[in-house]
Amino acid sequence: MSQPVIITAAITGAIPRKKDNPAVPITPQEQIESTHEAYEAGASLVHIHARDEDESPSSNPELFAAVQEGVRKHCPGMIIQFSTGGRGRDQSARGAMLGLNPDMASLATGSVNFPNGIYENPADFVEGLAGTMQRNGIKPEIEVFDLAMLYSALGLVKRGLVAAPLHVQFVLGIKNALPARREVFDFLRSELSTLMPEATWVAAGIGRHQWEVNQWCLETGGHCRTGLEDNLMFEPGRLASSNAELVKRIVDVCERYDRHPASVGEARALLGLPSAP
Ligand code: ZN
Repeated sequence: MSQPVIITAAITGAIPRKKDNPAVPITPQEQIESTHEAYEAGASLVHIHARDEDESPSSNPELFAAVQEGVRKHCPGMIIQFSTGGRGRDQSARGAMLGLNPDMASLATGSVNFPNGIYENPADFVEGLAGTMQRNGIKPEIEVFDLAMLYSALGLVKRGLVAAPLHVQFVLGIKNALPARREVFDFLRSELSTLMPEATWVAAGIGRHQWEVNQWCLETGGHCRTGLEDNLMFEPGRLASSNAELVKRIVDVCERYDRHPASVGEARALLGLPSAP
């Protein structure tokens, strides 16, 4: 029996704009449609950032609610994950949408230098966000942008602020943070499997590293993340036409690695999430 792979579609992100690739979905309607295409192509988890009409990142719970409602309606069972990322966003606003009780939310467990500034996640802020997720029954996806964040996440489990087993995402290829080097990838997953063997994990390759990292994950038993948030190109010189096209590229090679795209039921079971609301 082949092993299931949870394919995450990171549909929008905080940075790419329509002028960079017209397929980046901005309005709730565009986000719902793009998610539905990705779901049909084989994605079982959607990672969502809301955007205002001028395309700037937004913490407005109404926008998140609209997307969540549409995804629940059109993509039954799909796992909904809200970003609490905050490049340029007020810290207090970053958890504003957690009251909507998505299945999951992202939780970066430390600060890191991004190309355009510091992604600030001081310890007390991380603990506060983790506590809010816990109270709302939201499973965090731990975002590891730098090595120490892995150990900080394990510390949160020890202190009872995050439930085990963790679901961790390794982010590779952001300038000033972890490079998309195979040695780094192998070290990260081996540390996690030593320290928390029951944890699940995914890796994201940014920009031109996306496809390469997808294949590393398929090969080594990890889950996969793709989407226009991380990468606008299908191949050098050709923009991706949709989030679904990037999802389909993973689906098409699964068999070669003895994997299959997880159904939403399989994905929920793997992550310890209740069956669809
Ligand atoms: Zn994101």
